[in-house]
Order: sequence, then structure tokens, then C-alpha cells
Amino acid sequence: AAKAAGRGRHRFFEPAMEEQLRVQQTLKADLGRAMQNSEFELAFQPIIDLGSNQVRSFEALLRWRHPGQGCISPETFIALAEETGLIIPLGEWVLHRACAAAAIWRKGIRVAVNLSSGQFQSSDLPEAVADALAKTGLAPDMLELEITESVLLQHSETNLQTLKRLRELGVRIALDDFGTGYSSLSYLQRFPFNRIKVDRSFVMELPGHEESEVIVRAITDLGRSLGMAVTAEGVETRQQLDALRARGCDEAQGYFFSKPIAVEEIDGCLTRLEAARVWWSEPGSRRT
Ligand code: C2E
Ligand code: MG
Ligand code: MG
Ligand code: MG
Repeated sequence: AAKAAGRGRHRFFEPAMEEQLRVQQTLKADLGRAMQNSEFELAFQPIIDLGSNQVRSFEALLRWRHPGQGCISPETFIALAEETGLIIPLGEWVLHRACAAAAIWRKGIRVAVNLSSGQFQSSDLPEAVADALAKTGLAPDMLELEITESVLLQHSETNLQTLKRLRELGVRIALDDFGTGYSSLSYLQRFPFNRIKVDRSFVMELPGHEESEVIVRAITDLGRSLGMAVTAEGVETRQQLDALRARGCDEAQGYFFSKPIAVEEIDGCLTRLEAARVWWSEPGSRRT
């Protein structure tokens, strides 16, 4: 019976894989038309300074509204866009749109833009960044570029050169999803990032989970000694926020404050966060 069940599972598994491949192929083809059809949008999520309790920046997060399949996650389509090469024009579109938005929203609030591996390796990246700044009139230090550890996996001189060229433009650079990759420590020593973002997987387990507590504390200590701000991503509860504050985290981002929102909602979001500031800034008050 076990054997029959095993065979059954096997037969079931193959069509499922085929189906998945077929879906990927279709998405890849649709991706080509998605830009002309204006199916991409940016959502923005606030990042809060835990010292002043004010919004410090918004992270731009890409959304694909597929006509047949609804909203598709960047986790799925960024990889496909890398394979087709679309990532280059798409990445430039993101940079331009994000800078344009930040150029007109409340002064002093930065915008953070994610870069994929293909974008980062492209020799035209610094030019594309300079172009977006020039065309939108955004001050360079109002733009922060987020790169994940995995992008920097190879310790190449080219990577360091790219980071330096970007820095020379006056933009800021953050290391995203910190703690999930492998190459980070030596990079931190060799390149002065402005910010480290603690991955959500650690934040999720605060407070109380021993290993995550240790890791978060180690990262905040590291950030402090290297002069880099530390931001926690994926903060969903008051308890997580209090734990992060107690461990010396500088900034926080997550559903606790706001989900990623449309650009039209930014003003309202700032007003709402300002009004809510009092109760989350005091460790004593508990309203969640
Ligand atoms: P990321 O840069 O680490 O962005 C954080 C992700 O966590 C976002 O997912 C955000 O919506 C989600 N998030 C924020 N707060 C919370 C929370 O409290 N709880 C939970 N469960 N999730 C939260 P999203 O928007 O799906 O983006 C996923 C990843 O896709 C990003 O991770 C980034 O690596 C990549 N990505 C997004 N936009 C772009 C883009 O414009 N260009 C490139 N190259 N990559 C992008
Ligand atoms: Mg990011
Ligand atoms: Mg991240
Ligand atoms: Mg992440």
C-alpha cells in the first residue's frame, strides 16, 4: 500500500512541477508587456526614527498588478525580470519614480530604493542613479540605496568600486536583510554603509527567543561601533518595538506603523503617525 501511495504521489508531483514551470513561462512573457501597459506601481512604507519618533524615510516597494492574476509579489517577479533583462529598464523606472515622489513630499524625509543583483552588477548603475537625481531634482543625500548581502556575495573589487562610485554621487547606502547572508562582516569592515537593516526573521521572534535576542543585540552593537544606523524591519507588535528600543535599535519599519501604501496616501499616513506618536514613544503605555 505504501508503495502504491508513493507511486501515486510521484505521478501527482510531475504534473504539478510542469504546471509551475508553465506558470513561470507565462509570467515571464507577460512581464515583457507589463511596462508598456503600466502594470507596475510603487508602494511606500514609512521608517520611523526611535529617538525622535518621527518618520525618517519611506522605502519604495515595487508592485505588479497583473491583469489576470492580481498583485504579484516582487519575490516572484524580480528574479524573472533578471532572467529577461527587464530588470534594467524596470529598475530605472523605479529609481525615477521614487526620486520624483520624494522630491515633492515633506522636506527632510528620504526615500529608500532596493537594488537587485543584476542592477548592481550593471556598469550603468551609477549613471542611472545620477540621471534620476538630475531629472527629478532630488538632493543626493535624500536617496538611500538598499542592497542585500547576497548581492555582495563575491568579494570583488568591482563591487567595492561600484559602492564607491555610488557614494561619490552623495547617495546613502544600506545593507538590507542583514544576518541572512554570509559575506557581511568583511564587507562592513571594508565599506562604510550608512545603515544596516536587521532582517525580519529575527525581529519576528522578539522578545523572548534567546538566539534572536542575541543576534539583534550583536547587530545593534556592531552598528553602533561602526557608526552605522540600525533599522529593524518587519516590526508588527508593540512588544517587538519595545524590545528593539531596549536593545538600542535606531529605527523601525513594519506593519505596526504602516503597511506599504500608495503615494497619494503619504500625507495622511504622516498625519496619522504623528497623532499616534505619543502612545508608542512611551514604553509604559500599552495600546496594542
Ligand atoms: P525588502 O527590501 O526586505 O522589503 C521588506 C519586505 O517586507 C516588503 O515586502 C514589505 O512589504 C515587507 N514588510 C514590511 N513590513 C512588514 C511586516 O511588518 N510584516 C511582514 N510580514 N512583512 C513586512 P515586499 O514589498 O513583498 O518586497 C519583497 C522584497 O522584494 C523586498 O524585500 C526587496 O528585496 C524586493 N523588492 C521590492 N521592491 C523592489 C524594487 O523596486 N526593486 C528591487 N530590485 N527589489 C525590490
Ligand atoms: Mg529593502
Ligand atoms: Mg529587507
Ligand atoms: Mg527582507
